[in-house]
Amino acid sequence: MPLSNADNSHAVLQAVFDALPDSVFLIDPASSGIVYCNRAAWSGLGYSRAENLLEHSVLSLQRDVIGPEQWLSIAAEIRARAPYVFIGCHRHRLGREIPVEVHTSCFQFQDREYFLSVARDITLRTQLERDLSARDAQLRFALNEASDGLWDWEIGSDRVFFSPQLKRMLGYGPDELEPTLSSWTDNIHHDDAAQVHRILEDHLSGERERYEAEYRLRNRNGHYLWVHDRGKICERDENSRPSRVVGMVQNITDRKNLELRLQQLASHDSLTGLLNRREAEIVLDTQLGLCERLGVPLGICLFDLDNFKQINDTHGHQCGDKVLTGVAQLFGRHIRRSDFLCRWGGEEFMLICMDSNLEQLRHRIETLRHLLAAHPWEGIDALEQVTASFGIASCPEHGRDARELFIAVDEALYRAKAAGRNRVEPALIKPLTP
Ligand code: GH3
Ligand code: MG
Ligand code: MG
Repeated sequence: MPLSNADNSHAVLQAVFDALPDSVFLIDPASSGIVYCNRAAWSGLGYSRAENLLEHSVLSLQRDVIGPEQWLSIAAEIRARAPYVFIGCHRHRLGREIPVEVHTSCFQFQDREYFLSVARDITLRTQLERDLSARDAQLRFALNEASDGLWDWEIGSDRVFFSPQLKRMLGYGPDELEPTLSSWTDNIHHDDAAQVHRILEDHLSGERERYEAEYRLRNRNGHYLWVHDRGKICERDENSRPSRVVGMVQNITDRKNLELRLQQLASHDSLTGLLNRREAEIVLDTQLGLCERLGVPLGICLFDLDNFKQINDTHGHQCGDKVLTGVAQLFGRHIRRSDFLCRWGGEEFMLICMDSNLEQLRHRIETLRHLLAAHPWEGIDALEQVTASFGIASCPEHGRDARELFIAVDEALYRAKAAGRNRVEPALIKPLTP
């Protein structure tokens, strides 16, 4: 081969070829034998000299050894389509395989035909491609199968991409639900919408690091799901204004319902459904604070059913329970929306009325007392009448905090019982402390 025992210019060429990072093979098309290879070729395949490879068939480098008859068709292909490119595997001397991309062209030199193959080691690229396709599969899985739904909002055009999973979560098919912002905003529960929009605005204006909200979202059937929605700005325009926000929605209906149920159990009485005493104390404190700020009075009424033990003894405990529930329902229908009726314990109830002075409260409680006394207890044989005794007090004249008011109203109730029951007694005005 002329290049191997050449003059100075050949030596320079030899040095150039040996400096190439890619493997270069010169092949005799007739025999498929290697007639020249550079340093990258022999060292890359684990040999110590070019001579180790010379005269070997180029087919012996291939992982899938192809017989000489197939070489003829490959050679024809190379001639027809040069440069001929194929991705294959070269076999290293120690047996491992090296993925390569081989470009082969053909040329004539001194009446002889040669194939010139340049092979590039694509181990790294193959690995990257494999990683990418694995990542792609993970992303596709996250998009379609994971429990979270994905959304992608392009602010300028107001278009929103809703992932198939998000649509499925809301009961829509893959081709339903307009890809616009209103498909989302129109379905947020009315009571939650203002808060959700505020949180999103705060994120867009930079006041919040991320957008994150729990709210109710209407599904295709008109029912509401509780969702946990998180998002973050992921692109900005040339003026640094947010242009794209991407987020995830998770269905938390089960968790939320359980939470609400636990809250209900912790704050409500299971028999009557009214707020329990613990919750009543919190409400009383909050309402006192509110009334003080607004400069309006607050009235409270503590009432206790009369001779209730006798009702239990005569009609049975279950009937006693029915009476307790009945009283809660009867009064519940006749109080204002802003009033709080609570089961204080046993057959004692507390009513908290914002913006009621003692006279107004007395008037309203007298109405309730009459209502109860006149209520027919159908379904409970021989029970004709249930009455209660009521103590009433108001803030500020009977006390300014819950403790003072409670002492006052408890004392008033005690007097109502002592004076013969089925009556309303106001608390005593405290003597002014010097
Ligand atoms: P007074 O007019 O002085 O209030 O007499 P009373 O019989 O109502 O008072 P007392 O405190 O002697 O009895 C209250 C009864 O209420 C005793 C208790 O068994 C009954 N009670 C407390 N909680 C419940 C309940 O959840 N269900 C039923 N059925 N009875 C209850
Ligand atoms: Mg009683
Ligand atoms: Mg009692």
